[in-house]
Amino acid sequence: MPRKIAAGNWKMNGLQSTLVELRKLEEKHGDADIAILICPPFTLVSACEDTPFDIGGQDCHTAEMGAHTGDISAEMLADVGASYVLVGHSERRTDHGETDALVAAKSLAAFDAGLIAVICIGETLAQRESGTTLDVIDQQLAGSVPVSADALNTVIAYEPVWAIGTGKTPTTEQIAEVHAHIRARLQERFSDGAEFSLLYGGSVKGSNASDIFAVPHVDGALVGGASLTAEAFSPIIAALERA
Ligand code: PEP
Repeated sequence: MPRKIAAGNWKMNGLQSTLVELRKLEEKHGDADIAILICPPFTLVSACEDTPFDIGGQDCHTAEMGAHTGDISAEMLADVGASYVLVGHSERRTDHGETDALVAAKSLAAFDAGLIAVICIGETLAQRESGTTLDVIDQQLAGSVPVSADALNTVIAYEPVWAIGTGKTPTTEQIAEVHAHIRARLQERFSDGAEFSLLYGGSVKGSNASDIFAVPHVDGALVGGASLTAEAFSPIIAALERA
């Protein structure tokens, strides 16, 4: 069975004072039997080590070390307690011009460091409106997911770009179509394709989480804005626990 994962992407948010939110989450979900993954900014990764939650970086470099000012390697993340790393988030693809090939290379760096890569894919609004969503998904899966991926080292996050931080969400039918498509492609390519966790991301909140988690092949969520406070993230975690 794919693992259920409630993942929070704090993006460029969070100071040491924000860690109080994790203490509040711990009181409610400290012994949850689903995976709760927090991806804080790099500055807070080591400070999260003493929480019961899984911790992830939001990006990594392809190299283990070297002259790459401002970058962080997968090995460095693992060294301070991370077990996951997001790769290919649409904000990285857009803001930093990251290509599928680079995302695949970052995923390989994550595997080498013993991290689980959460590989993010998803179409833009123009692509959805032109009817090419599944072609885009195919291209991103083929280009971003390395041949050495398996259900233990890789999680796929489907995040329609137009739903991220906008308050807009696809219909559950639209999510179902894409998730079933991703599952089918993974099963064609990988012997354990049925076991990969598939997350939906894009304006998930307490009020829509249960409906989204009822969609076949949705094994959890990657949550941005609503992961920043325990008050907003806890109902999403609770909905996944019930699903
Ligand atoms: C994200 O950053 O991956 C995300 C899904 O953001 P939000 O939940 O704010 O739409």
